[in-house]
Amino acid sequence: MAPAAHAAPALERPEHVASYVLSARLDEASHRVSGRGSIELFNYTEQPLSEVYLHLYMNAFKNDESLFLRSPFGAGRSGQHGSKWGYIDVKRLVTREGAVDLWPARGAKSPGDPQDETDVRLALPQTLEPGKRLTLDVEFEVQLPEVVERTGYVQDYHFVAQWFPKLARLMPDGTFAHFTFHPQSEFYADFGRYDVTLDVPASHVVGASGQCEAAPASPGRRVLRCRAEDVHDFAWTSWPGFQEVRQSVAGVDVRVLTPPGYARSAAVELDTVRFGLEHFGKRFGRYPYPTLTVVHPPSGASNSGGMEYPTLITTGGPWYTPWSGARAIEAVTIHELGHQWFYGLFASDEHRYPFLDEGVNSYAEHSSLSARYGDGSAFAGFGLRISSEALSRAIAAERGADEPIAQGAADFFSFRSLGAIVYSRTATVLSTLERVYGKANLDLALADYAQAARFRHPEPATLVQAIRGRLGEVAARNLERALFERGGVDYLVREVQSAALDARAGVFDESGARRTVARAEGRPAERYAGHAVVLRHGALELPVQIELRFEDGHTELRNWSGDGTRYIVSSEGPSRLVGVTVDPQKRVLIDENLTNNAAAREAQGAPRVLERLLYAAELLLAGGLP
Ligand SMILES: [Zn+2]
Repeated sequence: MAPAAHAAPALERPEHVASYVLSARLDEASHRVSGRGSIELFNYTEQPLSEVYLHLYMNAFKNDESLFLRSPFGAGRSGQHGSKWGYIDVKRLVTREGAVDLWPARGAKSPGDPQDETDVRLALPQTLEPGKRLTLDVEFEVQLPEVVERTGYVQDYHFVAQWFPKLARLMPDGTFAHFTFHPQSEFYADFGRYDVTLDVPASHVVGASGQCEAAPASPGRRVLRCRAEDVHDFAWTSWPGFQEVRQSVAGVDVRVLTPPGYARSAAVELDTVRFGLEHFGKRFGRYPYPTLTVVHPPSGASNSGGMEYPTLITTGGPWYTPWSGARAIEAVTIHELGHQWFYGLFASDEHRYPFLDEGVNSYAEHSSLSARYGDGSAFAGFGLRISSEALSRAIAAERGADEPIAQGAADFFSFRSLGAIVYSRTATVLSTLERVYGKANLDLALADYAQAARFRHPEPATLVQAIRGRLGEVAARNLERALFERGGVDYLVREVQSAALDARAGVFDESGARRTVARAEGRPAERYAGHAVVLRHGALELPVQIELRFEDGHTELRNWSGDGTRYIVSSEGPSRLVGVTVDPQKRVLIDENLTNNAAAREAQGAPRVLERLLYAAELLLAGGLP
């Protein structure tokens, strides 16, 4: 396929739209963070702005009336509710130009949700014109919750994420992409510059986004100034228990922080990062940051694990995981590392289209693990090898048609459904495109996507366009149907038959003479006609191979474009057709039922018996025999 002419030019750096200069002091006894500093918004749009929206994500843990905690089912990843509350109190939020405190006149509750305080509207005293900057001086106090989900403390371990007043993303049309924080949702923000000074007890080891250096501290304290450029969030952790392994990997300063006794996990994580930085760098563009921090939370705080932040990821799992046969640590590390691209560099709206980061990243995870470990990418042990593609397919097949892939995080009826559809089904759709259209072509398409998305905010159309450019129109249409219309597919084989092609027997009147030809029963025919029907259920028109198997052991392959809903197999030759398999190499991983992909020739006469039985059964249903 011709190279994609549409591909957007690569960006070396993002536009800095939302930037923060913050200092934060952790009080470890009360688990509070006192923050102050400034927030800067650049109006890059062509619209004057009369309002801004701030997310106060920490208020999700304030009380049982927040959207996050009021679900009776514990709809989030952990399914847990809090008991040690967390919240953020903004003390002041003052415009630097006019010295107006915007806080008193704020919208007190989230728009459309009068019980929730995670989404705040602020009216501006004067409009922010296109091309101008708004600087807000801010002071706030955070009470960390006990870790329920991603953020908080457990004893003296602190993981501090979604902790400061955060600008909602300014959209090109001058509106803000803001939302009440839902337990199934993640985040969406503009790129910018973060300059964050952290003040923690001197005994603590700190991990943070960006590049940190020691700064003067008062007695008993440790102060670090951390700077992260070209990113859209900032998270940090502080704990006296961390052990550190540090290594430079291809120019990236990699730190792995684990609890004591996790040296084996640290080694696996470092090794996985070493592989992943190079592997993903080649496929999706170079990792552009000077640092990467990997945090393995202590066992009591595992709900802060398995999460991604710019230049900082969290893993997890008990200390013995590296010996279990399951590649759980490799999988979580490579998954979270993949998010440095599918979330970090390609900053899609995780609230509106979680599949663009979680789903495509799950495919990146599976394909990179396959590249490294082959068949046993998910599990290898006890003589069993399971690939993560196979695992994902099984999960996707179970629930895949329940809901569309391309819908908002909050629209999924449960986190389990979101998991099966956003993570597993998206990955299975992409694995299918890989197997059907070829890995080299899909790699080119994803490289185009990576270039168009880097330091930008890609949408589903960005991905579909990249697929169209390299795999063609039909593939793009299939992807759209799979993403937006619950499109699926099931290929199946019916009616495998074979008949002898001997000269016909009977009494023939030909050219004025009568001739009787005896039935050649008992001796083998010289030629046979074979017949079968291959059907396609579902909307995805994927090209497939069809394998014909003959009595003498030889096989033949046919290609079906997937056009139309049926393909009639017919063959003629010296051997009987005994079986037909559609998609023998299992390229169409998204095929809903693989057990009907093969059929063998029925024993002669058996279908007739079955037909008569069915006829009788239908008559019975219709109210009695005639
Ligand atoms: Zn993820």
